Amino acid sequence: MMKLLQNIKSLPVCNNKIFIYIAYISLACVFTAELNVIHARFLLGIELSYLSFIMPTFAGILFGYLLARIKLLGEQLEEIAYTDSLTQIYSRLHFNRLLESEIDKAKRYGGQLSIIFFDIDHFKQINDTHGHPTGDVILKEIADVISSANRSSDVFARYGGEEFIILTASTNIEGAMEHAQRLKQDIEQHRFPIGRVTASFGVAGFDPASDDQESLLERADKALYQAKSDGRNCVRQL
Ligand code: GH3
Ligand code: MG
Ligand code: MG
Repeated sequence: MMKLLQNIKSLPVCNNKIFIYIAYISLACVFTAELNVIHARFLLGIELSYLSFIMPTFAGILFGYLLARIKLLGEQLEEIAYTDSLTQIYSRLHFNRLLESEIDKAKRYGGQLSIIFFDIDHFKQINDTHGHPTGDVILKEIADVISSANRSSDVFARYGGEEFIILTASTNIEGAMEHAQRLKQDIEQHRFPIGRVTASFGVAGFDPASDDQESLLERADKALYQAKSDGRNCVRQL
């Protein structure tokens, strides 16, 4: 019995989601068996023997298994697409979707939102001096520092290699500037394994009358470019 249980657990589908499978399979069995009864008794007028349940039950098990497998694969794919594998924060794809829906809400109901875009300073030099794996550690630590400083309503994502982005919902440009200044300091004061690391920040507030997703991101990007031109480790707004 123990051996059988161990074998079942080692099947690719038998993890802690086993209950989902059981539910799917049971439902599919009942459904197909029920269909068989209706078909035979009422449409064909045939009385059923126990044997006539075997085939539909088998088909139900297979159908339920496939349904559960597809559902689980879908969830896994979604998680892969929506999460950055290195930092475990949101991916650019997921961020853009959430931003689109926040912009829709802001346009419809007149709410405020701002974007904070930031980029690690001289990151290429960090990689060149300390190696790529250390660069990865810095990226993870930056994501942790910012995640713990953000509010729960902030949407934080890795936008590119060493570029990160935050959507601050219900926040005007002044609020977002204050938040960005604090985050800049948090990074500057954090003890990284290689010592001091800084980042430059660009902030843009959403204007429902003239902005769309593209123009908002473009302004935040230009503000970040300005911060880089102004000597880095600073926050600029547009
Ligand atoms: P600036 O201050 O102007 O932003 O300069 P920078 O060196 O940070 O910017 P640049 O665009 O020249 O270099 C970015 C570097 O980031 C180059 C690339 O190899 C590195 N990078 C991108 N993605 C990753 C990653 O996932 N891991 C590591 N370790 N490095 C990465
Ligand atoms: Mg950089
Ligand atoms: Mg960059």
